[in-house]
Amino acid sequence: MSSNTFQRYLDKTRSLADINAATAVLSWDQETYMPQGAAMGRAEQLSTLSALVHQMSVDGEYRALLEELRQSTELEEWQRHAVRESSRDQDLARKLPEEHVREFARATSLAHHAWKQARAESNFSLFADALTQLVELKRREAGYYGFTENPYDALIDLYEPGMTVAQLRPVFERLLEGTRAILTRINESEASVDDTILYRHYDKERQLEFARRTVATLGFDFNTGRVDLSAHPFCTSFAPSDVRLTTRVYEDDMRTCLFGLIHEAGHGMYEQGFDERFARTPLASGTSMGIHESQSLFWENMVARSQPFWNWAFPELQSTFKESLADVTATDFYRAINVVKPSFIRIEADELTYNMHIIIRFEIEEALISGRMEVADIPAVWNRKMEEYLGITPANDAEGCLQDIHWSFGGFGYFPSYTLGKLYAAIFYSQVVSEIPDLEEQIARGEFAPLLAWLRGKVHIWGKCRRASELVMEICGKPLSAEPFLDYMTAKVGRVYDLPAGVAASEPAGESR
Ligand code: ZN
Repeated sequence: MSSNTFQRYLDKTRSLADINAATAVLSWDQETYMPQGAAMGRAEQLSTLSALVHQMSVDGEYRALLEELRQSTELEEWQRHAVRESSRDQDLARKLPEEHVREFARATSLAHHAWKQARAESNFSLFADALTQLVELKRREAGYYGFTENPYDALIDLYEPGMTVAQLRPVFERLLEGTRAILTRINESEASVDDTILYRHYDKERQLEFARRTVATLGFDFNTGRVDLSAHPFCTSFAPSDVRLTTRVYEDDMRTCLFGLIHEAGHGMYEQGFDERFARTPLASGTSMGIHESQSLFWENMVARSQPFWNWAFPELQSTFKESLADVTATDFYRAINVVKPSFIRIEADELTYNMHIIIRFEIEEALISGRMEVADIPAVWNRKMEEYLGITPANDAEGCLQDIHWSFGGFGYFPSYTLGKLYAAIFYSQVVSEIPDLEEQIARGEFAPLLAWLRGKVHIWGKCRRASELVMEICGKPLSAEPFLDYMTAKVGRVYDLPAGVAASEPAGESR
């Protein structure tokens, strides 16, 4: 290998990264400031850029370059990982025939339209034909990508490289069983928590100001990031030196802005923390959707929905919203934001029952892609599973199987990432409390730098160098399982509902964990 081969690769991958970053700027603008009338023109700009990226990434010279680098024995470790990731991107791009890509684009555009109408009228049959076609195309796509056991594996792999149905199923089964046991304990205790304080009046400007201050204190760097408003909150990154968050604010629900922004800031701090050498290469990216989600959920749930956090933050929240919180204590507030209650809509679900929504979608997607289930059966199967797992039955398809946008854009395989994020976050949490024994005291003093430094060193810095399973094994010395999450939830629910001793058996006395 000539010494400048890697340099030629860097030139190429940096150009690709720059175009992808420009695409991300245009998409961010589309969701935040773009006037509505610009939609057509923006769609054309985005499509031109994406065609350009596709051409550049499958280009013959680039392929030869990557092939040469894969044979090389002279690369440093991080350079080998960069070449591996570029090769993976190229393989994925080359495996789909152009005709399939075009057909899929047409089908999703029709399906998206059909889904919107079906949801508005709460009538699944209006979406069924378009969805049947998408399922067929995704089954074909799984064949193009290739798989050894289950065609659904090929689709999960797009979001969670290396993950399979065979690995997920037993973990999800244990999670299902453990969650039902916790729900039964809450029901049998007949304890209840008043969460109406969250829906009093909260001034929008002050909510936004409080949320910004909070994420800055947690460690989101405003020198390399900013916050704007959008209809659907998200985090996007153009480079580790330019990370954008969005949130939305409701006057009569104070959870949305604050917890939404903390969540996105968790994603953002991951993006701000990659090794500098990885800039403008495929390594400057989250290693999987599940690990990305674990970083947002870690800050949102483990930190910002904990009692120590509110022991520190509540006095300031109370003085910001004197009229609404004068009669409330930090513990009342902590309990209100942790209420557990089965509900129909996934994005409104609490920390515990949320996973049941995901398991239902996972089971349905797996059966559809494996060809063991027909699209027409979705509403009945959905409702039966909601009843079986959560004890409630949706009154109509709009609050049942039509609620999510994901299937309308063919996003099969994405849903498991959400629950994986929760499980990874709990695994990391159980590890960090063993390595920083006074973590809760630090949080109760509003000190987050040591925690952020831990996440930086163990997770963020690696970018895409480590696969999710390698990260988890390396950091915690154990594989993915539902146990740390169930232990964490058992302890939390015990405190929130003041359940008698023995219920929160895994929790040590006092305020730990
Ligand atoms: Zn997220």
